[in-house]
Amino acid sequence: APGYGKSGFTTVEVQTDKVRVADDAIYSTYAYENAVVEKVDGKYKVKPTVQEYEFKLDTKVPKTGLLLVGLGGNNGSTLTAAVTANRHNISFNTKNGKIEPNYFGSVTQAATIKLGIDANGKDVYAPFNEIVPLLHPNDFVIGGWDISKLNLAGAMQRAQVLDYDLQRQLVKHLEQIVPLPSIYYPDFIAANQSERADNLIPGEDKWAHVEHIRKDIREFKEKNDLDKVIVLWTANTERYADIIEGVNDTADNLLKAVKESHSEVSPSTIFAIASILEGVPYINGSPQNTFVPGCIELAEKHNAFIGGDDFKSGQTKLKSVLAQYLVDAGIRPVSVASYNHLGNNDGYNLSAPKQFRSKEISKASVIDDMIESNQILYNDKYGKTVDHCIVIKYVPAVGDSKVAMDEYHSELMLGGHNTVSIHNVCEDSLLATPLIIDLVVVSEFLSRVTYKKKNSEEDYHQFHSVLSFLSYWLKAPLTRPGFDPVNGLNKQRAGLENLIRGLVGLAPHNDLKLEERTV
Ligand code: NAD
Repeated sequence: APGYGKSGFTTVEVQTDKVRVADDAIYSTYAYENAVVEKVDGKYKVKPTVQEYEFKLDTKVPKTGLLLVGLGGNNGSTLTAAVTANRHNISFNTKNGKIEPNYFGSVTQAATIKLGIDANGKDVYAPFNEIVPLLHPNDFVIGGWDISKLNLAGAMQRAQVLDYDLQRQLVKHLEQIVPLPSIYYPDFIAANQSERADNLIPGEDKWAHVEHIRKDIREFKEKNDLDKVIVLWTANTERYADIIEGVNDTADNLLKAVKESHSEVSPSTIFAIASILEGVPYINGSPQNTFVPGCIELAEKHNAFIGGDDFKSGQTKLKSVLAQYLVDAGIRPVSVASYNHLGNNDGYNLSAPKQFRSKEISKASVIDDMIESNQILYNDKYGKTVDHCIVIKYVPAVGDSKVAMDEYHSELMLGGHNTVSIHNVCEDSLLATPLIIDLVVVSEFLSRVTYKKKNSEEDYHQFHSVLSFLSYWLKAPLTRPGFDPVNGLNKQRAGLENLIRGLVGLAPHNDLKLEERTV
């Protein structure tokens, strides 16, 4: 079809009076139904609620640039290679035959959403990216920073992720791309990374670093004639920053701490501050606490979008499905033991205790909301926790093929037990890179959605700064202060799909299937 594979290509037209399509926007009305619950004397008092919203989706997809922190890493180089291979339609030979480029593993590019049913009651699905206008990854303008100055052709070769015949054809496209110098505070990533740190912004003045990054963002935007820029951290996992009163607890204190070059301000927080001050969305793909309380407050003050933390790619994604399945089935997980070994540079960095600790915290939180959802299984009598053990080891020989082994040990009725063991080998960067695509495509989309309460005189607002709609792709979802994260994968997905459906005038998913079940 004309326009297929380009930003803004849609094929879905909903015939409803809930939607008005204008030249540059889709206006929709949406009844948000929920219920407010109070527990009184062991009984639930439930009041159904309805709030009508008016949504406005700007339909013009802007020319968008993506600045990656860690551009020369496995993810950064694989993303750049994947977009280049798709954009130039570069196919390549492997021992299994010829492979055409694609975006498998990306929800926005390779998954579908159910629209409704056909005349015979059979479900009909449309591609995820053909319902509302979305940015297409082939149109990403990619740049970024790395503490290593190797160009992207060299970075791709160093990563050892792609087949040789594809690498060979990509070299001429990638060798011109050289990462911008970056910020390196050696205390935050593993000491073993110092070998590759040869591309650094000089000096130790942290406010000068903020200014430097802001200028890089502005120059990238101007040079490439961009309407919008998104910054995403896919650099090494940092250690946690200590939360210190007067240093990073409020927005003002954080800015003051940067101006004093305080030692607890991490490089990732410097990038986040620079992005927030430029009004550019900032997404954190690693586990560290970049978004210290002062940083979240700063984003709120500037109405800038932030999202994080830590890509939810393999083991944790499965955990957020499996733990939910077990608890929803009334089965009581008592222990989850997760082992990983990997041999890429991420694994090398995570072999240092403080960086491992960041990952451990991020991986551990994923079953919390499922435990809290079921007081029959988790209570004072049976215990309120699951023994959750997380191990990561660096085994260079396996390279980018990360191995994950998980054992879920659960209690059944009458003292029975159920043990599920999973052994998963995946090519780490090919699993993670499509998540970067989705995070960028969906963040860009969310920044075009505004809303107001129906019939209110107010202007349309944008969503809250913390983009928790991105949780599907993130291990430890950053949530608006005062709210709990949702970890279950299906709930996260439903929230996003229902938003997309609502914007085109469709009700939330409904699986009652009454066409079949009534006579
Ligand atoms: P990588 O080590 O190959 O790449 C990281 C890159 O960041 C390196 O090129 C390094 O030189 C660069 N870097 C380090 N500090 C920097 C700084 N201050 N500024 C700019 N560049 C800097 O790692 P990767 O496999 O690409 O993973 C990237 C990150 O994503 C890691 O933190 C990892 O934990 C996280 N992550 C990866 C996956 C996955 O790949 N499946 C899943 C979840 C999270």
